Amino acid sequence: MRIAPFSDGRGVCFYSERTDGDVRAQFLGSKVRSNSDLMKKIYSVIIRKDVVVVKASQCHSSAVAPVSTKWELVPEVDALVSKDPAILPSVMVADCVPIALYAPKEGVFAAVHAGWRGLVKGVISNAVDTMRSDYHATDLEAVVGPHICARCYEFVGESSETVRSVLGADCFTKDGGSHLDLFACVEKILDTKAVEMIFEEKDCTLCSGDFFSYRGGDTTERIILGVGVVGE
Ligand SMILES: [Zn+2]
Repeated sequence: MRIAPFSDGRGVCFYSERTDGDVRAQFLGSKVRSNSDLMKKIYSVIIRKDVVVVKASQCHSSAVAPVSTKWELVPEVDALVSKDPAILPSVMVADCVPIALYAPKEGVFAAVHAGWRGLVKGVISNAVDTMRSDYHATDLEAVVGPHICARCYEFVGESSETVRSVLGADCFTKDGGSHLDLFACVEKILDTKAVEMIFEEKDCTLCSGDFFSYRGGDTTERIILGVGVVGE
C-alpha cells in the first residue's frame, strides 16, 4: 500500500500494489469487505474504524455521482464525490489512470477512473465541476495514481484520431506519435481546470512490475485507489 498525503496532512490518497493482491476478491458488491486484509491496511492509513470503501462501478463514462450515505447503491459512474469522513470513494485500475481530488478547505474528496475514453468524454472535468458546484469546493489538489507510461502504451488506429482531435496531438509522444501519454493528458486537463497536482506516481503499471497491468497480462486483477480524510 502506498500513501500520498494532501497539503493539509488531513486528506490522504492511498493505493494498493501487486503485493497487496487482487482487490476484486476483497469486495462485497461495491464495498470492500470490512474484515478483509485490504480493509485492515486501509484502517491503519485512515485511523478510523467506521469507514466504508465505496467503489465506482466504472463503465468508461464521464458520469460523476455524490455518495452521501454508507448504504446507497452506486450508479453507473466513473467518479465518486463525498465529504463524509466515513466514506472513502475509490476506483479499481490496471493501466488506466486513477486520480484522487481533494479540497482542503471544504473537506471534499473524489476518486476518478480515467482511461482514454473517460479522458475524451471529460470525466476529470466533470468531477472537478461537481466538487465546485455541488460542494462549493474552492482550491483543489490532485494525486495521480499508478498508470501505464507512454513508452509502454502504443495507441494506433481510428481511436487515436479521436483522442488526437479532442485532447490534442501533444498527448502523444513526440517520436512519431504512436504512443499515448495518459499522464500528459491528465496534467493538461488539471492545468486547464486550475487544479494543483501535488503528487504523481511515476512507477508504470506495466514496466515497473509493482502494480497490475491489463496490457501486461493481468486481465482480471486490479489495484485500488481511494481517498478520504484521516481520523483525529
Ligand atoms: Zn511503462
